[in-house]
Amino acid sequence: MNSINRKDWYQLRDDRIKNLSDESSKDFQDFDIHVVIDKSSIDQISTQLTTLCFINVASRWCRNITICVPDIKLRVPLYRGQDLREVISTSMREIDPYGQFRFSESPNNANSPIVYIGKKRPEGLSEPYFWLAGNNWIGGYGYGSFTSIETIVSDSANICGPSLAANLCNAALFKYAYSHYSPDIFSAWYSLFNYEININTPEDLMNPPCPTDVDLGNIHLVGCGAVGSSLVYLLTLMNTVSNINLIDFDEIDYSNCSNSMLFASNDALEKIKKVTACSNLLSSSSNNALPFDGDYHEFIEQGLYEEYPPDLILCLANERNIWSTIQANYPPLVFHATTNSSWGINYGRHIPFKEWCLLCRFRGLLETDFTPECGTSFIAKNSKVETLATLPFLSPTSSVVLLAELLKLSLGKMEMDYNYIGFSLKPTGSAQFQLLPEKPKADCPYCRDKEYSNYSELNKGSKYWAFIFD
Ligand SMILES: [Zn+2]
Repeated sequence: MNSINRKDWYQLRDDRIKNLSDESSKDFQDFDIHVVIDKSSIDQISTQLTTLCFINVASRWCRNITICVPDIKLRVPLYRGQDLREVISTSMREIDPYGQFRFSESPNNANSPIVYIGKKRPEGLSEPYFWLAGNNWIGGYGYGSFTSIETIVSDSANICGPSLAANLCNAALFKYAYSHYSPDIFSAWYSLFNYEININTPEDLMNPPCPTDVDLGNIHLVGCGAVGSSLVYLLTLMNTVSNINLIDFDEIDYSNCSNSMLFASNDALEKIKKVTACSNLLSSSSNNALPFDGDYHEFIEQGLYEEYPPDLILCLANERNIWSTIQANYPPLVFHATTNSSWGINYGRHIPFKEWCLLCRFRGLLETDFTPECGTSFIAKNSKVETLATLPFLSPTSSVVLLAELLKLSLGKMEMDYNYIGFSLKPTGSAQFQLLPEKPKADCPYCRDKEYSNYSELNKGSKYWAFIFD
């Protein structure tokens, strides 16, 4: 039995969401959705991944979910051979112990929004409905009626497209749930391979094969909060190989359960360390995890940088001047990922000498007490009032962009035309990815005048160094 009562649980988990409920908005807490899953493609890994990602994020904010899906054996690596319904009901119960989650043979409440997941045009669903589909690098979502994509895409265990589709559709539903926004008919398809968008069909989007047993190398994952832990969850859904040093000093609290794809109610109840939860899950996959309970400065001080030299550093935290700690150590390749206050996500890549450094990017924020809260955003309820609210789909979106870049790097594709990616989930069905090339800032004292000789032989021997400087 859970020893937190229902009232406290929702109050603590939805701490930053509760201000949304007032007389002018819909009764958000009673919002319910009916999820209908395509019987003809549920045996495919990509439909299974899309379903698992959608339901994971949805059950972190929507308290009433009915699912119409036949029971089948899962093929997703993390749950291979397990029953789909059992995996869904167990994870939903762990995510929200007081949620009303049930299975049904058919969508039976005409007043609730219907969400369709699949590849074939559904029969007998009254239109319009929300829909989503993901496969390999491609993710799509819309409102209206779904057009079959069976002949366009093959099956893939790449999590990128399924996860993106799940987050986009959750964002649209979330907007629908809390406000008086009613969606127009729309559809949008994206490729996370090159960030192009097509309005009507995934047909012309880039979607090359992606082997899923990719070796990502030795990674320092600095910060296991909403973005870092969601990335860990996504990695385990695939079959990637990696050695990951997990570095974080924080423990899981109830509000973390609303915007990470990994953390469960019991983790918060037992105040489990974020690195422990991440490490436990990674250990059940083909990835190798080494948890460190402390900050990155302590990690370096204890000689662990030399003991576990990184091929890549993922900077997903902002505490205790993490940016300067990483940069002062002359790192090899660094990726960072954040969320921002306008339903947005940001990704940045930092190649020594060639590109902007972490402090070119974040230096301005060091001079204040700025502490960005991951996965939070201001939501305008009307033109005058703004409320700080948790956006459950924001950090998972940041993670999947980060993962797409990680996979492409390991496949030998380094896109040099851009190293900054921005995207907002606010405009439904029309948002474009912003891709920018960022050079070192002329006045940055942290990277200006730095030379090849400043970098240790350890970093010059890292997996991606030769590739970068080839
Ligand atoms: Zn710099």
